[in-house]
Amino acid sequence: MTIKMFVEPKVRGFICTTAHPTGCKSEVQRQISYVKNQNYNIDDKSPKSVLVIGASTGYGLASRICAAFGFKAKTLGVFFERPAAQNRTASAGWYNSVAFEEAAKKEGLFAKSINGDAFSCEIKREAIDIIKKEMDGKIDLVIYSLASPKRNAHGVVWQSALKPVGEAYSSKTINIMSGEVSNVNIEPATDDEIAHTEQVMGGEDWQFWIEDLLKAGVLSHGALTVAYSYIGPEMTYPIYRNGTIGKAKEHLEKTARVLAKIMQEQCHGDAVVSVNKGLVTQASSAIPVVPLYMSIMYKMMKAKGLHEGCIEQMNRLFKTKLYHNNPLPVDEHCRIRLDDWELRQDVQEEIEKIFNQINTENVDALSDIAGYRDEFYKLFGFNCQDVDYSLDVDVELNVPSIRLEVANS
Ligand code: NAD
Repeated sequence: MTIKMFVEPKVRGFICTTAHPTGCKSEVQRQISYVKNQNYNIDDKSPKSVLVIGASTGYGLASRICAAFGFKAKTLGVFFERPAAQNRTASAGWYNSVAFEEAAKKEGLFAKSINGDAFSCEIKREAIDIIKKEMDGKIDLVIYSLASPKRNAHGVVWQSALKPVGEAYSSKTINIMSGEVSNVNIEPATDDEIAHTEQVMGGEDWQFWIEDLLKAGVLSHGALTVAYSYIGPEMTYPIYRNGTIGKAKEHLEKTARVLAKIMQEQCHGDAVVSVNKGLVTQASSAIPVVPLYMSIMYKMMKAKGLHEGCIEQMNRLFKTKLYHNNPLPVDEHCRIRLDDWELRQDVQEEIEKIFNQINTENVDALSDIAGYRDEFYKLFGFNCQDVDYSLDVDVELNVPSIRLEVANS
């Protein structure tokens, strides 16, 4: 049965509880068109079979699009999304995946998806099963792009926190919807909160995935795995890099070095972390202070012609870093740096000047809060120029490769 309904954005805090299927499709199509115009050079070194963990939104979706529509690779995407039910729209990542698979099918590209908890052993087994049965038993690239508030592991539900470590932190922050700039004071994390965040956003589960894939013999000779990290400018260090999430990212980066060794020994492969630019995604909207910094950063980077979204960043990663230079172009800590333009001295000096002056009265003039808001709505399929939002739409769409009784269970 088709459920047609009028869909509008319902924003609660830093999340929108509805998503527009036609708008999500339009955004996915825009990213696909961007990649198709980049003329990827396909040769025997380019990825042929790719697993993307966290494939439905943000950096993971953009990675999947680069692999599929740039390199024509087979892709298996893992994500945790909500299909539509009882007059409720599906989540944006669900509609994105519907659009991705439909577009892949039109081009004759293999695309399969698994909807479930990537932290679990069952989903790892299911992925290995699909690789063995439907992807010629081998993959050559594993992208780990999970962003989750919690993880179920070792019989415990671990809950991540976004807090400073050691001492309390006070800074300006913004309510993106109202534009109100206010002060926020965040108490330091407890040892427990630090440990929990590392469990959720650190590298342990990434390592479990790679060990399971190696054990199953499904990583090809020379396979590569990449996970994503963020550093950001000094002004956000207390809440990001030196905070609970930064500790987890340090753990992820250490894990990359452990995995690089294991991969080298077992399949002549490699593991690396890519430090990406700060961007509006569902995950980053939840971090205090960061959206205010990003609104200013967007304005500065757009003015300098340096602004990139998820797809431009991942295109730069795939085309000019991962499959261009051999060996991989890494910094002294073995990380690929896609945050080089964001952290340019001239960009940061100007952002800092503005950050010190900004308040509720001048935020529209001094920052790109309008652009931030626009991108936020687009994450959920709203604000797309080519979509007629007055029309009722079918909200009950299926991701073609997922059986709905499984998705709903
Ligand atoms: P996002 O919220 O857009 O995407 C998260 C993905 O993880 C989605 O596909 C979601 O379905 C999936 N997911 C969440 N929990 C899951 C679970 N239990 N099982 C299976 N799938 C699950 O996030 P994003 O901003 O694209 O972040 C991806 C990675 O990039 C993160 O490691 C993040 O720290 C990093 N990063 C983000 C930014 C930024 O500014 N957004 C910058 C640099 C690095």
